[in-house]
Amino acid sequence: MAGDLPFRTLAPWLRARFGRPVHRVALDAGSTCPNRDGTKGYGGCTYCDVEGSGTGALKDGASLAEQLSQGLTRIARRRRRPSDPEPGAIAYLQSYTNTYVEGGRFREVLDVLERELDRDGSPVVALSVATRPDCLPDEALRELERLGERTDVWIELGLESADDSVLLDINRLHTLDEFEDAARRAGDAGLLRVGHAILGLPGDGREGARRTAEALAAAGVEGVKVHHLMVLEKTQMAHQWREGELSVLEPETYVSWLADFVERLGEDQVLHRITGDAPDGKELAPRWGVAKNVVRERLRAELERRGTGQASLSGA
Ligand code: SF4
Repeated sequence: MAGDLPFRTLAPWLRARFGRPVHRVALDAGSTCPNRDGTKGYGGCTYCDVEGSGTGALKDGASLAEQLSQGLTRIARRRRRPSDPEPGAIAYLQSYTNTYVEGGRFREVLDVLERELDRDGSPVVALSVATRPDCLPDEALRELERLGERTDVWIELGLESADDSVLLDINRLHTLDEFEDAARRAGDAGLLRVGHAILGLPGDGREGARRTAEALAAAGVEGVKVHHLMVLEKTQMAHQWREGELSVLEPETYVSWLADFVERLGEDQVLHRITGDAPDGKELAPRWGVAKNVVRERLRAELERRGTGQASLSGA
C-alpha cells in the first residue's frame, strides 16, 4: 500500500500513473437513462435525483465543448507556482447513463473529446465514462476501445449491491450477472473498470456490504467507489425517509461495514472513493458533518484496531 494507509487510495495511484496532479472535469453530455424513459423502468433508482446524479450543465445551456473548456481553465488555475507541473485532467462523463444514447450521439460526444486530445498541450490524460452495466453495447465498447489507443479510458459501472433482490427493491432493474458480464467485456476491450457500491441500501445490511465487496473483487475491476446511502431531495427515497420507512447509517456503523468491505477487496484494487457527499442543500439524511479525510482516518484506525487491511479476507 502507498503511504502508511492499510488500503489503496486514488491519489498515489494517479501520481504514479501520470506523474503530476490530476483533477476531474465533470461533464454532462445530455444522456438520459433507460430507468427513467420506460425502456427499463420509470422513475429511476429510488435514491437518484431527477438530475441523474450529475451536473445538469447541458440543460443550463453549456455545450459539451464549453463545459470541457471551462473545466480545463478551472483546473489550470489550480497550479500554485509557475514551477509546478501543469495539472492533468480527467474528462468525466458523469450524468445519467452515458453509453445509453443513439449511436451517432455517442460518436459526437467522443468527437468533442478527440478534438481536445488533438490540441497541442492538451492536459487531458483520461476519459472516464459512467454508465449502467446493462447499457454497454458492443458498438460503444468498440468506440471506447479505439479511443483507448490514444488515452486512458475508464468505465464506471454501477453495481451498488451484489444482491439482486436489493437491486430490485431500489428499482435498479439490472442484475449482478449483467454487472459481471459488462465488467468482463470492458476488461477485454482494455478499459480500466471502476465498480460502484453503496453500503446501507434497504435490506442489504452488513452481510450485503461484504458480498458486494466479494463480487467486486471477483469481477476484477481495477477501481472501486463506495459510499454510504444518502437520501437526497427529489427522490423516491426522500418520501420513504419522511414516512419513517427508511433508515440510514451512523458514521460509526458505516466505518465498521466499510472496513469489512475493504478487507474483502483484492489487493490491487484502488479505492477511488470511500465516502459520499451531496450538493449543498440536497442531502436530507444522514447529515454527519464528517469530512472525507476524517472517514479515511477512522477507517485506518478501525483496520489497525483489527490488525487487518485491504484484501486481508479476500478470496480473489
Ligand atoms: S442512478 Fe443512474 S441508472 Fe439509476 S436512475 Fe439515476 S441515472 Fe438512471
